[in-house]
Amino acid sequence: MTSHHNPDGDAIGSALALTALLHRIGRNAVAMVPNEYPAFLKWMPGNDNVVIHNRDEESADSILSHADLIFCLDYNTLNRTGSMEDGLKNTTAVKILIDHHLEPVLDEFDYYLSLVQTSSTSELVYRFIEGCSWLDQIDEEVATGLYIGIMTDTGSFSFNCNYPATFQITASLLASGIDAEYIHRMVYDTYSEDRLRLLGYCLSEKLTILPEFSTAYIALSKDELNRFHHQVGDTEGIVNYALSIKNIKIAVFLTERKDRIRLSFRSKGDLSVNRIAREHFNGGGHRNAAGGDSFISIEETINKLRDVLVQYKDDILRSSS
Ligand code: 5GP
Ligand code: MN
Repeated sequence: MTSHHNPDGDAIGSALALTALLHRIGRNAVAMVPNEYPAFLKWMPGNDNVVIHNRDEESADSILSHADLIFCLDYNTLNRTGSMEDGLKNTTAVKILIDHHLEPVLDEFDYYLSLVQTSSTSELVYRFIEGCSWLDQIDEEVATGLYIGIMTDTGSFSFNCNYPATFQITASLLASGIDAEYIHRMVYDTYSEDRLRLLGYCLSEKLTILPEFSTAYIALSKDELNRFHHQVGDTEGIVNYALSIKNIKIAVFLTERKDRIRLSFRSKGDLSVNRIAREHFNGGGHRNAAGGDSFISIEETINKLRDVLVQYKDDILRSSS
């Protein structure tokens, strides 16, 4: 079970769930992700056996080359798999894509279950399990992974959740004995003090509103991240606060990394940030949640963002959100 670079709750949840299910039916299976993921996902059952590819690329690549079957979960192109990309391209294993991102590169995979109108990859993994007639094999461990994927990719059932199937599937996961309140607390109420103070700093000192573009952005330099002893996952979700302002239709969160500026986009309604990320920032994602990278300075990236927004001004004014 493989997933994308900078794995999120849906990536880890779907991979751990399918791994646990395959163990239950007697298969040899392992979850592998390109790089480290946040502490709020590290308590999950099965976590200790996840292979982090960039920790020991040689032995991880050997697992990829010896596999018979590789599930490609929550990414739409091999290009999203960071250090795993070459290993995935070189293996002779059959590849099955299960994913909900826009514009999948289908010829990179042998089989696919690709559906955009769904909450999450975890929901699609449930449907895959159902299609294989394995629903009776869903135990607490499998259900926990799938529930986390659905919960995190819908922002606790607040977006991407207008599909009745999402709630039907969630209800059946609850019936397998998971404690949804406990899971929510483990993911959302386990902030470090630094993380909460960083959030406060972003909101009170760093939020910039561009009213003419109905856009809000927050940009953080490396020094600012260091000041709050930044750990993987600490900035997760901050972009959503910028989007929660009335009349704001686009939110952007920019962070200065070692070799790039990372951008995280969110939008409301029919306005597509996937297009902005894809066409201008080497990225992509979903209509209302996308990411990208920029290889110029943070100041230049902010200027570029303003120039790009000028091109989308009519779309922004017209959009219904
Ligand atoms: P986030 O802002 O949370 O990092 O990402 C939001 C969504 O956009 C996620 O579904 C993620 O898979 C997708 N995404 C993030 N970064 C990239 C990127 O660089 N390229 C593509 N194609 N998708 C991305
Ligand atoms: Mn997802």
